[in-house]
Amino acid sequence: MGVRVGVLAIQGDVREHKNHLARAGATPVEVRTLNDLRSVQALIIPGGESTTIGMLMAEEGLIDAVQARVNNEQFPVYGTCAGLILLARDVVGSSPARIGVMDITADRNAYGRQLASFETKLRISVFHDEPEFPAVFIRAPRITRYGPGVTPLATYEGHVVMAEQGSLLVSAFHPEMSGDARIHQYFVDKLRKTLKV
Ligand code: GLN
Repeated sequence: MGVRVGVLAIQGDVREHKNHLARAGATPVEVRTLNDLRSVQALIIPGGESTTIGMLMAEEGLIDAVQARVNNEQFPVYGTCAGLILLARDVVGSSPARIGVMDITADRNAYGRQLASFETKLRISVFHDEPEFPAVFIRAPRITRYGPGVTPLATYEGHVVMAEQGSLLVSAFHPEMSGDARIHQYFVDKLRKTLKV
């Protein structure tokens, strides 16, 4: 049995995240309720619309519960795109209800309307920059500030688009939309190391 990694199943590419997690050797679990959340050892928050996801998470009590697990037991959470916004301590522009545990400022829709979606190859430091990662950005946010506890892992045009802080990982792009499962593998391997399994 692999480690049980949750995928918040409110919006977004839930199936694709589950597939990538399975390829990384984890047991993927859809998370919608507090009981689901209790049963997992880590969580991925997919992209979507952060205001909607934040509101629905709050209704289920999931905002407080994730916050508590991060603070009390260094619960690993990987937030992609809207998930990055939900983990950010500060947000530029209208800010949704959010978990707010990562010391970053996220600028929502930083790439504007004209560049709403694009794909690019990124160098990611934890993969020693090689081979480049096929990153899909969809109305993506950008990290405009990060605190001393945060390590930037990738930049695009001079802006940080992937970072980590302890058990927390964020990317402004969608790693589930390419055939490359290395980021999911990285997240799962780090969890295994922490749990010593
Ligand atoms: N910009 C969106 C938001 O503010 C996020 C887009 C995405 O997750 N693809 O929620």
